[in-house]
Amino acid sequence: MSDVLKRRFREQIMVMFGREPKKPVQIAERAVRAHQLKRMTNKADLQATKAHMRAHEVKSTKWRNRRWATLLISNLLFTVSFYFDIQLLEGALTASRFIGFHLIDLNSALQVMLAHKHIITNLLIGTGTVLVLWILLGGRSFCSWVCPYHLLAEWAEKLHLYLVKKKLVTDQTIDRRLRSVFWIIFAVLAAATGYTVFEAISPTGILSRALIYGPGLALLWVLALLVFEVFFSKRAWCRYACPIGLTYGVVGIISPLRIKYKLDGCFHEGDCRKVCLVPHVLDVVIKGRAVDIEVPIGPDCTRCGLCVDTCPTGSLTFEVKGLSKLL
Ligand code: SF4
Ligand code: SF4
Repeated sequence: MSDVLKRRFREQIMVMFGREPKKPVQIAERAVRAHQLKRMTNKADLQATKAHMRAHEVKSTKWRNRRWATLLISNLLFTVSFYFDIQLLEGALTASRFIGFHLIDLNSALQVMLAHKHIITNLLIGTGTVLVLWILLGGRSFCSWVCPYHLLAEWAEKLHLYLVKKKLVTDQTIDRRLRSVFWIIFAVLAAATGYTVFEAISPTGILSRALIYGPGLALLWVLALLVFEVFFSKRAWCRYACPIGLTYGVVGIISPLRIKYKLDGCFHEGDCRKVCLVPHVLDVVIKGRAVDIEVPIGPDCTRCGLCVDTCPTGSLTFEVKGLSKLL
């Protein structure tokens, strides 16, 4: 990895913890040339190329469909296993057993150990399996490919955007550092009270349990979160509060599966940033920001594929580090 990409990588980790992305201070020579070439391109040529691209533009939902199917199947497997009493995927998202393998959610395990104030060996085994799995699968891909709240929040976002378009509501942004603060607060609360306080209010756990064991009053809390997101702040829980997202973001730092940006074909129109849950990771698509001609997207990316589906020029793709482009 070049020095500029290493610097960018370190900055993206800070961005995940809440820092706002900044203009790059160092850009690779070949990227400087690419930026210059784009500035020199005749405006009429660029407009003609854009018009041509638009004429061929077909809105893809390939990755969204694959993701929704995976999310629904993985959550319904719990329900089916419980309902028919088969030992396929037992338990709930926070702690489960998949054909005999123990799987413990990383954040839940951390909260339980903080609450009990010692390292629980059985938890470590289940956590290890999950850690390896999510390192391979991309860290925050847990959010977009498995978490049931993500799907509901995605639908709530559509409603929010409709209301914004009709000028009935405005989107309120909140300081992203709040998520890191919440992470610390929930850890301290677990250690101080001896209870896993976060688990009681986590919409991920509430929805997972409701799908398996039936609805309960806790669903009202999930509904309140969704109402807040529809009328006040888009995707607020995932963006500004949920410690699970941050924990899996940290796991994603060393994941080989990621989204890659290619500068050459990009028109810098920013459609990808509009559909992204975490647009701060896509600052690279802003004109003049790419530090190299190919730049990996940072660890806070949920690998949802919405930007891949949206980009009309194929400038954003899935890749496994060291291997060629994924389909
Ligand atoms: S941030 Fe939390 S609630 Fe949102 S998708 Fe990720 S795990 Fe689910
Ligand atoms: S960068 Fe792309 S894949 Fe990552 S979260 Fe944003 S839209 Fe999804």
